[in-house]
Amino acid sequence: MVQIVQYLKIYNTLSNKKEQFDPISSDHVKIYACGPTVYSYAHIGNARMAVIFDTLVRLLRFLYPKVTYVSNITDIDDKIIDAANELNVPIQEITEKYTKIYNKDMSELGVLIPDIQPKATEYVSEMIELISDLVEKGHAYQKEGHVLFHVPSYKNYGLLSNRNREEQIAGSRVEVAPFKKDPADFVLWKPSSDNQPGWDSLWGFGRPGWHTECSVMSEKTLGLPMDIHGGGRDLTFPHHENEIAQSCCSSCDIENPNSYANYWMHNGFVTVDGEKMSKSLNNVLLVDDLVKENDGEVLRLALLSSHYRQGLDWNDSILHQSKKLLNKMYRTLQDLEHINVSEKDLNNIPENILEALCDDLNTPLVLTEINSMLGSIQNYSDGEKLDLKVNLLSLGSLLGILQKDPNNWFKIGISSSNISSDEIEDLIEARNEARAKKDFKLADSIREDLSSKGIEIEDTDSGTIWRSI
Ligand SMILES: [Zn+2]
Repeated sequence: MVQIVQYLKIYNTLSNKKEQFDPISSDHVKIYACGPTVYSYAHIGNARMAVIFDTLVRLLRFLYPKVTYVSNITDIDDKIIDAANELNVPIQEITEKYTKIYNKDMSELGVLIPDIQPKATEYVSEMIELISDLVEKGHAYQKEGHVLFHVPSYKNYGLLSNRNREEQIAGSRVEVAPFKKDPADFVLWKPSSDNQPGWDSLWGFGRPGWHTECSVMSEKTLGLPMDIHGGGRDLTFPHHENEIAQSCCSSCDIENPNSYANYWMHNGFVTVDGEKMSKSLNNVLLVDDLVKENDGEVLRLALLSSHYRQGLDWNDSILHQSKKLLNKMYRTLQDLEHINVSEKDLNNIPENILEALCDDLNTPLVLTEINSMLGSIQNYSDGEKLDLKVNLLSLGSLLGILQKDPNNWFKIGISSSNISSDEIEDLIEARNEARAKKDFKLADSIREDLSSKGIEIEDTDSGTIWRSI
């Protein structure tokens, strides 16, 4: 195991280079990724983050004896308050509904529920403690019901996102309020009106700024420093920069950003047919809709088809490619149905594929390698067939795919086609009768008819089988 672990490399946003992954304790790897703000349905960009970090966690679990994965739910935020006001319902109604939908949609994509999924509202008293500590240490100040972090008090600010001071000010999401001592200062606490959700604090009735929750929840659930902190690229600044500032100026080491998290990983954006997803372009793809038309495994493989740090352009072609590869894998499993494998053997990943995964999660290369291992198996010995099946099933559990019965897989597509399974079975029977009567013309025309409806048939020793293609 030690040998394998030595070659896991990940690109660290903090150092701007690919590094060998060296966990704080190889007995227990700790990872945190920023989860969704639950006020609406998750889109395919949210799903990319969830699938990528789920795949990374599966790989870490393969390499290390124990991994704890934490991914939070942001259930207090102005967008949630706006959504609740619009419908005139309490915010919990919105957040509970969309948390449930998020978890259901992600499970369709094979994303396992994180070991811990903390909710921001359950940690507000700890956030108040963090803010008080920052005020006490001179890194934060109170002004007009707000508490602000004073950015010039932390000299390493900007190190993660590589932004200089002008860029920090220009990129800050919060508008420059007149009461800020410095335009780059950010909000730790803000006042709530009577009809807004809030908590009592030393600074009056109010609610925390977004960034405090991840500093607090990562510390309380994992302990600091953690090994890996991740999220979408848009979180690098200001969210993650602010997390480092808060934690390093409070419980961690102010001189050393690694005292909060050792490795920072960020995934790239998803575009749709070459365009940025936006409400105004009406091209925001919701996972809840996509899973109605595509199998979750097809969507998952499509999300893994480009390297996680690159952009991913979502289009029909990547869906088609993913379905094609999955069909190929399931067809091989179908052909190997008679080979028995035992559950305990399912941790045998081909060396070249493990190497690609350990090279900063190079999933496009993994998919190419899988494609080439699925050659013709006609001339394989039984031993080779057994190895192939073990490899495929092991890869399936590492990548979160191939979790279906191969025979059912080819029937899934039927629901969207214009023919039912009963009709297919009837036509196959009619074809077999025609063949028995040596009416090959009729038999061929039935085969062609099925093929035109997207159904492929194959005559095997145990009868005629069919697949949706
Ligand atoms: Zn976060």
